[in-house]
Amino acid sequence: MKKQHIPFNKPYMTGKELYYIAQAHFQGRLAGDGPFTMRCHEWLEKRTGADKALLTHSCTGALEMAALLLNIQPGDEIIMPSYTFVSTANAFVLRGGVPVFVDIREDTLNLDENLIEAAITPRTRAIVPVHYAGVACEMDRIMEIATQYGLKVVEDAAQGVMSTYKGRALGSIGHLGAYSFHETKNVICGEGGALLVNDEELSERAEIIREKGTDRSQFFRGEVDKYTWQEVGSSFLPGELTAAFLWAQLEEADKITQNRMESWGRYHELLAPLEKRGFLRRPVVPEGCEHNAHMYYVILSQKTNRTEVLGYLNKHHISSVFHYVPLHSSPGGRDYGRAHGSLSATRKLSEKLIRLPLWVDMDGWQQHFTVEKLFEACKRK
Ligand SMILES: *Cc1c(COP(=O)(O)O)cnc(C)c1O
Repeated sequence: MKKQHIPFNKPYMTGKELYYIAQAHFQGRLAGDGPFTMRCHEWLEKRTGADKALLTHSCTGALEMAALLLNIQPGDEIIMPSYTFVSTANAFVLRGGVPVFVDIREDTLNLDENLIEAAITPRTRAIVPVHYAGVACEMDRIMEIATQYGLKVVEDAAQGVMSTYKGRALGSIGHLGAYSFHETKNVICGEGGALLVNDEELSERAEIIREKGTDRSQFFRGEVDKYTWQEVGSSFLPGELTAAFLWAQLEEADKITQNRMESWGRYHELLAPLEKRGFLRRPVVPEGCEHNAHMYYVILSQKTNRTEVLGYLNKHHISSVFHYVPLHSSPGGRDYGRAHGSLSATRKLSEKLIRLPLWVDMDGWQQHFTVEKLFEACKRK
């Protein structure tokens, strides 16, 4: 039994995905913005309170739409963490924007709201908080700074579907929010995402940019009598088969979250003794943040060799992995962005973080075994 491989992630299927895909197939509706897409939009708007939710082919696509919507021009600066996925930066770099990397908080690994102001220059246009592991950034303070300096806020809520900050859905607090439904996230459809538009002034243009720069969406609603090219845009929408798959997942989003939370809680309990002995520290969830159990990570103690720990776990067929190489220290980040300050927390934490296996319906024994082996690995040194 214990020789069985423990994967890092297993995509969860609700069982209704093929049924909905068959419906779309039967109806002969394959292009985007069909009935399933509309159901997903309504669900997302209702659940998040966003003005408008628009499915995209990825979170990357949603972030690219955000950069277009904000009219990012060459040389415009965008404040973001260095400890994030490349798409957070790339979306703006595609428009000629310059990512300005600011350090993260020690507790949540989220953009440190206290370091943002010092990084603002006359070229600053936007702040992009990334809700790492589905745990919210300090949004009240970030929105306050944005208002004071006239900046836009784009939440990279790729990992934050179903998480909240002071009762508000992540992605619905900034001017724009981006979700991911990639296979590795909580609610999935293979490749997929959504843009949440919370600023009414941006809603109409968001539809246009998503539909190749045309007013096709308005045309289909009968609001205009022909559709034409309006502005710079691209094709950001997914097809109906993808939306049909996603619909099956959204219907069970609460169940998925609850199930993951149980596994997350079990890890948290099992790892308390290891934290007490100083081997590692567990994730911190600040008050007012309800997370979605997207990830269970630990920060190993400074004297622990991460490579050895991961090697030991992998030897016992446990797929545990580290995470981002900070963008400011990667070739692309050095070429296209700029670091603000020393980013010492980013460097220190990114070198000691490991992520543990977690998926829906994970067995308790697999978690016990993982923690047992992690304990052994830490004790070896
Ligand atoms: C997954 C992820 C993305 C990209 O999502 P895609 O849907 O794969 O494009 C962007 N930002 C963060 C923080 C992510 O975790």
